[in-house]
Amino acid sequence: MARFSGKTAIITGSSNGIGRAAALLFAKDGANVTITGRNSERLEETKQQILSAGIPENKVNSVVADLTTEKGQDEVINSTVAKFGQLDILVNNAGAAVPDTQGNTGTDQNIDIYHKTFQLNLESVIRITQKAKAHLIASKGEIVNVSSIAAGPQAQPGFIYYAISKAALDQYTRSTAIDLVQHGVRVNSVSPGLVVTGFTNAMGVPDTGSKNFYDFMASHKECIPLGKSGQPDDIANIILFLADRNLSSYIVGQSIVADGGSTLVMGCQVHDMKTMLGL
Ligand code: NDP
Repeated sequence: MARFSGKTAIITGSSNGIGRAAALLFAKDGANVTITGRNSERLEETKQQILSAGIPENKVNSVVADLTTEKGQDEVINSTVAKFGQLDILVNNAGAAVPDTQGNTGTDQNIDIYHKTFQLNLESVIRITQKAKAHLIASKGEIVNVSSIAAGPQAQPGFIYYAISKAALDQYTRSTAIDLVQHGVRVNSVSPGLVVTGFTNAMGVPDTGSKNFYDFMASHKECIPLGKSGQPDDIANIILFLADRNLSSYIVGQSIVADGGSTLVMGCQVHDMKTMLGL
């Protein structure tokens, strides 16, 4: 029997990237899935990929919604419970590095970008978690949040607001994990490094710039020691692992890093001592 057979999962941000990959894997592994995003065409593409894998249409609930709105949050939760009768797994994946259209970076970034970033990457997660809580307690369910290695401890001067929103999300994961474990609900997180998705496009970077960026990162060992960028499935498989109580039941409130080794290197370490000593 498929391992998520009889379970219902909401995967936010499943109209693209990591969320799409996770939704497809959950559906292939037997779960009823709610897929959601603002872009109806891309969301339909996710749905078609699921149907093409032979999953019956009645196992897919597709909801076009903006998760920074209360209406969108309610639609996602309520339509899931109305259609499938329960909620077992909540994947809080939707997120973005909100671009500063004026091109300001670092400490000059407009405070408006801070508000928009926190509204999506943190506040929507808090609100959806609150709204899903009773259903997850009823099912003794799982929450998997999608954070980022940008949360630290390394500095991120180019993405300050994005980085601090993910750092806050990590503390939210830890704190909610302890709050909810007493009710039988497990909360964990995954912290990806660079993954090839729509993430840079959502920042306003065109396809060529995105490709250059991925190629640069993959070919510089001080960026990704593994020598290649991550793919959505690399993260989606961890999400499913953390949502699978048979495999990960003793992991509570942790974030699993998947970054090809990025966080283990410091820039200076790529130069050998002999070169640095100049002897
Ligand atoms: P994508 O841009 O490919 O996917 C982001 C998803 O979030 C899309 O489905 C998008 O849907 C959805 N989304 C964005 N804003 C909203 C909103 N207001 N309401 C509802 N849905 C929204 O990027 P990724 O797959 O890479 O991002 C997924 C998660 O992974 C994010 O939390 C990101 O921070 C994290 N991450 C990504 C990394 C990477 O290198 N790619 C690295 C570290 C972390 P739509 O546009 O249709 O609204």
